[in-house]
Amino acid sequence: AKDNGKNGFQVFTPTMNIKSYKTFTFQNDLRKALKQDQFELYYQPKVCTRTNKIVGAEALIRWKHPEWGMVPPSEFIFLAEESGFIIQIGEWVLRNVCRQIKLWEQEGFEPIIISLNFSVLQILQTDIVQTISTILEDSKISGTLLEIEITESMILEKESEVSNTIDEIRQLGVGVALDDFGTGYSSLGSLRNFNFDTIKLDKSFIRDIHHNEESKAIIKFIINLARELKINVVAEGVEYEEQLTLLRHLECDEIQGYLFSRPKPVEEFEKMLVEKSVS
Ligand code: C2E
Ligand code: CA
Ligand code: CA
Ligand code: CA
Repeated sequence: AKDNGKNGFQVFTPTMNIKSYKTFTFQNDLRKALKQDQFELYYQPKVCTRTNKIVGAEALIRWKHPEWGMVPPSEFIFLAEESGFIIQIGEWVLRNVCRQIKLWEQEGFEPIIISLNFSVLQILQTDIVQTISTILEDSKISGTLLEIEITESMILEKESEVSNTIDEIRQLGVGVALDDFGTGYSSLGSLRNFNFDTIKLDKSFIRDIHHNEESKAIIKFIINLARELKINVVAEGVEYEEQLTLLRHLECDEIQGYLFSRPKPVEEFEKMLVEKSVS
């Protein structure tokens, strides 16, 4: 067993099996990653379907592991959630995004809205609104340049608390988006019970929208509903021209997907910002 209890790490004991050993080392790796600056944010543009201009971007975390190379979030976010360490990672993401928004402001880029993903554990923190407010103040940026993406699974957990939290976040000027819309089981109820600025149509609907009449009908219905409710609609996972053409026709507000760009590191994303429009 490794005896490094002194510096605050858990000590591995031989009674743990291999799986828990892996999880154990993994959790330590995550802590190290944060300390040693191994996380990086990539930015994927959101493009206005009317003007073809970049109007926003989603920040997506990457882990540059010294041995494994680039680790996608699907490989580590759930483990970070298991241990609760996602709280620290989430705060790092928030600070990093706000700092980046300030840098872009100072460098003279036209302002765009940057969104980031929240974990359920973050939204359930009782001091989350205070945390966001403090970070906005520290970074000296307006909350209106920030948007938080949450999924339905989170809000169903503690409805009335989460509903209040969403309202308080919005009072800071920060937008709140419902991510992966359509995949949950009470999506329509959620639109009634929570005040969202934006819904993001899940990629699973977008994938076959140009081949499948049912998908198309559902998307059309949601877009029209959102218009009535004055909610902004973003389609994610747009990969083909045909999908874009259709989404334009249905008057979807914004598009995000490989068709325009994959998520990019800051410098590459900035090049796109300079050109401003993508195609
Ligand atoms: P998400 O929030 O649904 O993010 C969209 C995912 O779709 C991203 O995967 C993005 O790279 C991918 N994507 C974008 N355009 C396309 C496309 O045209 N086709 C396809 N097939 N995929 C596309 P990524 O970056 O691997 O992130 C996966 C998930 O990890 C995210 O799903 C989100 O749930 C989570 N995640 C990422 N960053 C963070 C973070 O900072 N905090 C938290 N809590 N979760 C994060
Ligand atoms: Ca998202
Ligand atoms: Ca999504
Ligand atoms: Ca997702």
